[in-house]
Amino acid sequence: AAANRVINFGAGPSALPLPVLQEASQAILNFQNTGIGIAEISHRSKEFTACIQDVEQQIRTQLQVPPTHEVLFLAGGGTAQFAGAVLNMLARSWLLNPEKQERTLDYVLTGSWSVAAKKEADRLVVGPSGTGVRVNVVVDGREGSVDGKSFESIPGREKWKFSEDSDLIYYCENETVSGTQFGFEDVPAVEGQEPVGEESALAKEKTTFPFELLPEGKLWPLVGDYSSSFMSRPIPRLADHAIIYAGVQKNLGPAGVTIVIVRHDCIVDVDAAAKLGAIPVPACLSYKAFKDGKNTPNTPSVFSIYVCGLVLKRNAELGGIGYYLELNRRKKEKVYKVVKEGEAKRVLRLKVKEASGSWMNVVFTVLGEGAEARFLEGADERGMKGLKGHRSVGGIRVSLYNAVTEEEVDKLVAYIREFIQEEQK
Ligand code: PLP
Repeated sequence: AAANRVINFGAGPSALPLPVLQEASQAILNFQNTGIGIAEISHRSKEFTACIQDVEQQIRTQLQVPPTHEVLFLAGGGTAQFAGAVLNMLARSWLLNPEKQERTLDYVLTGSWSVAAKKEADRLVVGPSGTGVRVNVVVDGREGSVDGKSFESIPGREKWKFSEDSDLIYYCENETVSGTQFGFEDVPAVEGQEPVGEESALAKEKTTFPFELLPEGKLWPLVGDYSSSFMSRPIPRLADHAIIYAGVQKNLGPAGVTIVIVRHDCIVDVDAAAKLGAIPVPACLSYKAFKDGKNTPNTPSVFSIYVCGLVLKRNAELGGIGYYLELNRRKKEKVYKVVKEGEAKRVLRLKVKEASGSWMNVVFTVLGEGAEARFLEGADERGMKGLKGHRSVGGIRVSLYNAVTEEEVDKLVAYIREFIQEEQK
């Protein structure tokens, strides 16, 4: 079965490492010699309790999650957190100041997923308990694009307008469909602090958003959707976030679990807030219910969490987040380079300006009559799948998640180069 596997460049659910799948397939029959399979074992068993605790610990260590933050495991995907983040942050706002006249939710729109998240906020605040809650657009990446509809780059900071005293500042770190991502700049390590091990990756790198606009140290209501970049590189200024969430199905495991890293002051008594007038929060979205219930207030996605644990163990053996930072940087550089060669020869065109280009999802167009179909057919013949762009933007999308190896990327790059030559004939 392993020999028949194709190279999967799909956007999600996406490839998982082969050794992990092999180990997991054994565990489906018999988990840790319990005689019960991992898909059958109780979520309250001591074996699974140890497993979920280990997954939490691995995430804490590999991402350097500070003790100010809790790591929770929820269901409902990233989509459920579009609501979960809003509802818990509004409950927090009501508890902090029940008399506040206007509450604001600030959205930074850089692609179709942030637009979807804002849409969810719009629908949540229509009723009486949403009175006085305003959904504000900090910036819309479509403005200034060539057709006024596409997300071609992350807009410059001079265009951003945060509201005063907002209750939530939302951004999507990597836009899986549009292929835009906040930049990662090299900055020198802090003088006098020689970084060691995994920390070196953190010290060397700095993202361009939105942190330089938000002075460090305040309890910012900053919410980041990391669904498609989680664990692919460090999260700068993680400690300054209220909430970071990610469905695991791109870089970490099978669909079914959403990791929510949440600062303690954002884990609030949502029922007390509702009594004051906040929008009531279903128990399945209440961060406090998950914290109090030690992540199993109800039945979690046992299999998915278990596989995440295997992937994390493997990550640690390979060198942790610093390893993936360097690997993913090399992978994306190779793909952008060949697409730019195709651009120079008028065969391909990048959809996103390179400085805003995603490391995880490279989106481009194949120019010319029938050329896209030829491209996909040739890829298919070579065992490379999942390259068709999202139906809303078309073109080609190459997803380069952690499980896609550098050798697989080299094969794709060789094919693209060959394709460019053929098209020129
Ligand atoms: N956010 C981002 C960035 C995504 O890529 C996706 C799905 O691909 C979602 C949110 C929605 O996640 P889900 O399908 O897990 O609800």
